[in-house]
Amino acid sequence: MITLEVRRRELLTPGFASVTLGGPAVGDLTVAGNDQAVRLFFPREGQTRLRMPTLSNEAWIAQLMLVPKSARPWVRNLTIRRSRPEDEEIDIEFALHGDSPMSSWVRRAEPGDPAGIFDMGTMYRLPEHAEGQLLVGDESALPALLSILDSTPPSLPTEVYLEVADAADIRPLKTPAGVRIHWFSRDDADMRPGTLALEAVRRASLPSGRFFTWVAGESRLATTLRRHLVNDRGVPKQDISFFGYWRLGRSTPG
Ligand SMILES: Cc1cc2nc3c(=O)[nH]c(=O)nc-3n(C[C@H](O)[C@H](O)[C@H](O)COP(=O)(O)OP(=O)(O)OC[C@H]3O[C@@H](n4cnc5c(N)ncnc54)[C@H](O)[C@@H]3O)c2cc1C
Repeated sequence: MITLEVRRRELLTPGFASVTLGGPAVGDLTVAGNDQAVRLFFPREGQTRLRMPTLSNEAWIAQLMLVPKSARPWVRNLTIRRSRPEDEEIDIEFALHGDSPMSSWVRRAEPGDPAGIFDMGTMYRLPEHAEGQLLVGDESALPALLSILDSTPPSLPTEVYLEVADAADIRPLKTPAGVRIHWFSRDDADMRPGTLALEAVRRASLPSGRFFTWVAGESRLATTLRRHLVNDRGVPKQDISFFGYWRLGRSTPG
């Protein structure tokens, strides 16, 4: 459990903001890149201080839930987008949506505000036998996907299917030579997030040879894509990593 403070906040596109957290405790964090996730603790509206759990084993969740709501921080899963150890800083990028606890905190976060993190480590593991990769995500997975691309070898053919809420959230990206990015935006269409990326992969010709798949986002995107790859495309289960980052209509507990 480490406590940091907000250093800066920057609106990247209308639907994305980056918050830079910093402090000497960044030195206690081993940043490995890729989809390295953290539990981010931040104060509820009106709270002036951050009461972090003190336990670092799994019991921290029970410890947190015993704290009355008036004193308990929010906790949400996020990805470390990048780090600058020399400046004792990390950046986290947030897909803003409505007035959720996370989006509201990002909008009100000011330099000096406290925020805490608990490192959850990385899940992305490119198998040695992979001759290519398929990366698929919605806006919640964009930060992780971009970090994975930061360390993708230029020689690895990579097809990326990225869905965001709005065309204004599509960013120009500098990517390694072998990477092809397919962007999709829902643009107010009444559809479940992840639908466009899922349908596009269903229609796509997949990378040739044995390839690795990493998919994350709204839970139906992750589970349906995996089922499609395994059942309809004959992809070995062990070549797919899939993660439900959030569930439509369900708030994160905590
Ligand atoms: C390992 C991991 C890494 C993650 N990394 C990031 C990250 O770097 N950046 C990021 O923005 N998110 C990331 N997420 C997703 C993020 O944790 C969830 O979106 C979380 O629900 C946001 O909390 P909230 O307070 O906004 O909404 P909640 O209180 O959890 O939910 C409120 C409502 O908003 C809906 N909702 C939740 N997320 C979204 C969304 N993205 N778009 C539209 N509706 C939504 C819920 O279905 C619910 O109806 C990650 C999740 C995991 C598991």
